[in-house]
Amino acid sequence: MSRSLLVSEVFSAIQGEGANVGRRQVFLRLAGCNIRCDYCDQPEALELAPGPCRVERTAGRRDWEQRSSPLAVDEVAEAVTRLWGQLPHHAVSLTGGEPLMQAGRLTQLLPLLADLPVCLETNGTLPAGLAQVIEWVDEVSMDLKLPSVDGERVRPSIQRRFLELAATRPTTVKIVVGAGTDDRQLEQATTMVAEVAPRSTVYLQPVTPFGAVTAGPTPEQVLGWQELCLARHGDVRVVPQTHKLIGQL
Ligand code: SF4
Repeated sequence: MSRSLLVSEVFSAIQGEGANVGRRQVFLRLAGCNIRCDYCDQPEALELAPGPCRVERTAGRRDWEQRSSPLAVDEVAEAVTRLWGQLPHHAVSLTGGEPLMQAGRLTQLLPLLADLPVCLETNGTLPAGLAQVIEWVDEVSMDLKLPSVDGERVRPSIQRRFLELAATRPTTVKIVVGAGTDDRQLEQATTMVAEVAPRSTVYLQPVTPFGAVTAGPTPEQVLGWQELCLARHGDVRVVPQTHKLIGQL
């Protein structure tokens, strides 16, 4: 098993999405993603390949040190723990890209971070990868991708399998909604959450226009979708990408 990781960036920032919005976290953004969403705002993190990466020296100062990925797991652990120790952080956000593309390599890193709470941000498509790392994960933020919004076709059966495993940890579900969201797909996704993880919160996230997506949903659409979801699941909240609103990474 390789003792290195393909990394995009390591930095300290304000969590802008979902249940931990507003909290200070150390972000470990891994390179590589197995899908391509139309609205993806991390185009530079999509390729699972060696390349340049950046590591913040001082938490929140954006005093980047340029390095070459892959980084040795010891080097990644040192970069994360150095930022962690500089000010009070809530957790390490393990994000991407899709971090579970490197699940095997993460089994080398995560034991080195065992003293820190780890929140996994994932597109919810790689249940076998989740199974490899779940023992080191304290919290899961799972995306439920809808084909009508992201342009991908993730199978609902895979998403269900993923959520079944994720729900062995505190788990929240994020569903990005866009102008073209299909009511039926949203209804089916919410029903699945209600069946598999009834205690989890669903966050509807109006898409932030980016890349191929030039407009978000209307206020009326968002109200209607929350109503539709609340008829199937008791805790459905609407939270946009707040870090974009305040000019944060
Ligand atoms: S899953 Fe996330 S990182 Fe991957 S393409 Fe979609 S938005 Fe981008």
